[in-house]
Amino acid sequence: MKPKNIVLLGATGSIGVSTQKVAADLPEYVRIVGMASRENVAGMEQAIQKFHPKAVAMTSRDKAHELEQRIKAPVLTGEKGLVELATLPEADIVLVAIVGTAGLEPALAAIRAGKDLAVASKEILVMAGELVMSEARKHGVKVLPVDSEHSAIFQCLEGRHPADVKRLILTASGGPFRQTPREQFPEITVAQALKHPSWTMGQKITIDSATLFNKGLEMIEARWLFDIEIDRVDVVVHPQSIVHSIVEFQDGSMLAQLSAPDMRHPIQYALVGPKRLPNSMPPTDLAKIGTLTFENPDQNKFPSLRLAHLAGRVGGTLPAVFNAANEVAVERFVTGQIRFTDIFTTVEKTMTAHCPVSQPPLDAILAADAWARREAGHAV
Ligand code: NAD
Ligand code: MG
Repeated sequence: MKPKNIVLLGATGSIGVSTQKVAADLPEYVRIVGMASRENVAGMEQAIQKFHPKAVAMTSRDKAHELEQRIKAPVLTGEKGLVELATLPEADIVLVAIVGTAGLEPALAAIRAGKDLAVASKEILVMAGELVMSEARKHGVKVLPVDSEHSAIFQCLEGRHPADVKRLILTASGGPFRQTPREQFPEITVAQALKHPSWTMGQKITIDSATLFNKGLEMIEARWLFDIEIDRVDVVVHPQSIVHSIVEFQDGSMLAQLSAPDMRHPIQYALVGPKRLPNSMPPTDLAKIGTLTFENPDQNKFPSLRLAHLAGRVGGTLPAVFNAANEVAVERFVTGQIRFTDIFTTVEKTMTAHCPVSQPPLDAILAADAWARREAGHAV
C-alpha cells in the first residue's frame, strides 16, 4: 500500500494528538504533510519536529508569526490558511478535527480539490450534511467517519446492501449524570460536567456528552453519512463504551464493532481501512471488562435527543441552528452565565424561534448559524 498523505486540521487537540500517535505507529502507511491549529505554538512546534510536514497553518495571526520565528519557515494563517492546507496538492486525505464550525469551509474546499475527507468535527455534517455529501458524490471523493460510533457503523456496513439495513443503533456512554436524579440537574457544576466516565476528550465534546447533545449531533451526523432517515437512527446507553455502535439488519441480526475506548481505533480505520494493520495499542481484554450492559436513554432527563430528532426530521437549516445554539449554550455554561439545564432551554427556544430554509446553500447555512448564535446568547 502506497503511504497516504494526510493533512491534519486541529493537530494539537485531543483527536489531533491521537492522529499523531497513529501516524507515528504506521510510518510506512501514513505521512502527515500538513498541520493546522488555532493558537498552540508549542504543540505545533513539537509536532513539526516529529513529522516534518510540507506546510503548516495557524488561524491566529500573532501565533503564526511566533511559530514562524521558532521554526524559521513560513506559516500560513487565517481562514485562508486552512483552505490552502486543505487543498495542498500532495494531500490524499484531509482529516478535520477542529472543534466547532471553522472546519466547514476547509472541508468543502478539500472535497472540491478531490481529496478524501476524514471527519472528526461532527459539526460539519450536522450543519451542512446534505451539501457536503452531495459535493462529495459530485467530486467522487470519500467521506470517512472518525467519530467512533460512525466508524463502527461504517465498518459493520461494509459490503452490505442499504436495503438490508433496518436501523442504526448508536451507543452512548450516558455521561456522568446517567444516574443523577433530574431534580439535581440545575445544581450541576462545570467541574462535574467535565468528568467523563469513559473517554478523555476536548472540553466542548465532554460537556456535550454530559447533556447527551453529543449523541443528538451524532444522530444527525449518521443520518447524512449513511443516507438514512432519522427515524431509523436509535440510541442505546452502554456505559462501558466497548461496543461502539450497532447495525440491525432486516433479518433481525445485529453487527457491532468492539474495542477499548481509544480514538486511535477509528482514526486508524479512517486513514488505512479497510486494511487491518497491527499497531501499538493494548489489546481489548473482554474477560477483564467482564460485563457489557445496555439501557434506554432517559428522554425526560435529556431532551437533547428529542430536539436532535426534530432537527434531523425537519432538516434544512434547523440542524445548523440546533448546533449553533448548543455551542453558545455550552460556552455560557462553562463561563458561569447559565445553569446546566439552561443548555436544553436555550437550544429548544432558539429552534422554536427559527423559520427553517430547506435545501440551503452554504450562505443560508452560515446565516442561520450566525442568527442562532445571536438568538441563543439571550435565550435564557
Ligand atoms: P480539542 O478542543 O481537544 O481540539 C481542537 C483542535 O482544533 C485544536 O487543535 C485547536 O487548535 C483546533 N482549532 C479550534 N478552532 C480552530 C480554528 N478556528 N482554526 C484552526 N484550528 C482550530 O477538541 P477535540 O476533542 O479534539 O475535538 C475535535 C473535533 O472532533 C470536535 O468536533 C469533536 O466533536 C470531534 N470528536 C472528538 C472526539 C474525541 O474523542 N475527542 C471524538 C469524536 C469526535
Ligand atoms: Mg462519538
